Amino acid sequence: MTIAGLSPPLSFLRKQEKRGQESNAFYTNLMLKIKNLSIQIENKKIIKSLNLEIKLGEIHAIMGPNGSGKSSLAFTIAGHPSYLITKGEIVVDKVVINNLAPDERSRLGLFLAFQYPQAITGVSVFNFLRSIYNAHHIEKIPIHKFKLELNKYLKALDLSEAFLERYLNEGFSGGEKKKLEILQAMVIEPNYIILDETDSGLDIDALKTVAKSVSKLSEQTKAGILIITHYQRLLNYIKPDFVHILKQGKIVKSGDYKLAKELEKNGYEKY
Ligand code: ADP
Ligand code: MG
Repeated sequence: MTIAGLSPPLSFLRKQEKRGQESNAFYTNLMLKIKNLSIQIENKKIIKSLNLEIKLGEIHAIMGPNGSGKSSLAFTIAGHPSYLITKGEIVVDKVVINNLAPDERSRLGLFLAFQYPQAITGVSVFNFLRSIYNAHHIEKIPIHKFKLELNKYLKALDLSEAFLERYLNEGFSGGEKKKLEILQAMVIEPNYIILDETDSGLDIDALKTVAKSVSKLSEQTKAGILIITHYQRLLNYIKPDFVHILKQGKIVKSGDYKLAKELEKNGYEKY
């Protein structure tokens, strides 16, 4: 199935629009909207009547203990077939995406950085990035220009050029895996970026590097960002506009960045 008029051309126009006229109504109306969403897996209710709105340019954090449903929510937004939506809607810029395939969601501007990225033998990082670039941009760029762009991204992520020749995630350290997820986001320039525990498995230097790249991406592309995390350490380097606490599939409290600080001090018990 193709979505008429909504594959690369519109997302491309949106980006033009976003960068050019940030104050107009078109820009402010764009958002990832989760309406009264309930999710089930193998007859088990995981997310219960969840509401969330992420506008372009906003940074949200969802924090919650293990097993609270954070990854399930992320997978469901991205279109993982194992998760069943029993109620509610997921809307990207007014398009209901409940029944769209993952690649269609991706072309609408959604991107999920996985908590546990998979290895794919035989596919080089370079070829993968080149093909995701082509799938998300209408204007084709010559390979040497693409390489120049990539080199900038690699530098920002503190990765060497040799990284491009390796097979996807094969033998990668925890930090390299998470950096590859961010590298993909840099190449695609999504409108909405969901980072599922991108801070886990990173040492302090890698954490700072990744945080800086995500902040820059958010500034430059005006993407709406959802940071999913168990700990608040990433939020020391990327200041969220909103923090939500997820417990047993429900948002039990929302606030600003101070809520993350409070959680660090007092833990999740109180909620
Ligand atoms: P979090 O990311 O917050 O740690 P998850 O979304 O991974 O939480 O898990 C939420 C709940 O859903 C847990 O009880 C987990 O066991 C269950 N769950 C998640 N994925 C599956 C699955 N594929 N099969 C069965 N249960 C699952
Ligand atoms: Mg998880």
